[in-house]
Amino acid sequence: MKKLHGKPIIAGNWKMHKTNSEALELVQEIRNAAGELKETELVVIPPFPALSEVKKILQNSPVEVGAQNMYWEEEGAYTGEVSPPMLKDAGCTYVVIGHSERREYFGETNQTVNKKIKAALDHSLTPIVCIGETKKEREEEKTNQKIKTQLSEGFTNMTQEEIQQVIIAYEPIWAIGTGLTATPDQAQEVHHFIREQSKEAYGKEIGDYAIILYGGSVKPKNAYPLVKEPDINGALIGGASLKCESFIQIAKESIKAYKDKK
Ligand code: PEP
Repeated sequence: MKKLHGKPIIAGNWKMHKTNSEALELVQEIRNAAGELKETELVVIPPFPALSEVKKILQNSPVEVGAQNMYWEEEGAYTGEVSPPMLKDAGCTYVVIGHSERREYFGETNQTVNKKIKAALDHSLTPIVCIGETKKEREEEKTNQKIKTQLSEGFTNMTQEEIQQVIIAYEPIWAIGTGLTATPDQAQEVHHFIREQSKEAYGKEIGDYAIILYGGSVKPKNAYPLVKEPDINGALIGGASLKCESFIQIAKESIKAYKDKK
């Protein structure tokens, strides 16, 4: 797995959007635009049926491919599930784990997240692990408590080597797909908390180098101030990743923000 320090990661989660032909059209546009964006790590995360075809379009381009979910077993009688070797074979290098929509609609827990993280690492897939609080939890000032539990349970029994390969995405649930975004200060506060937790659990160096993405209605107009915050290392983008123009614009804003970082 590659080391990703020094440049922002911009990952587009297409969720359950795009037929194969639509996916290919979008990824071709992204590929054409990606040449001038070497100072970022661009990742596209299409639905399962499009993964292999999208990867073919991206051969010999710096754009990486990720999956939105996977099961932790290698194979077996698990109807409807997709395994880590299948994702590797389709050309994935990343996998999103524990997205709030998976937790809310498909019963994922910190325990299943933990199994999936381990399985991803065993197969050299970089997990992008999503954590975040609901509106109610924020209003009741339980954000840090929620984050702490998601981290300690989700990352249970992991070695320092393993933890270094994990990317965390802080995604306040109230900001996902709602048009509401955490302010840069609100996001930075939680990112800083996550980094401090990581330092406490795994030591200063691992905490300092932890990659923590922000997700929740990231758009071209708010990407710069968010990514400029000291503890924000890029973005996980839903809606705005469905159009090449906005996805690429976010990448450009993030590159500028990284250069101007405090
Ligand atoms: C997401 O799906 O992870 C996400 C952040 O979505 P959106 O950008 O649409 O809020």
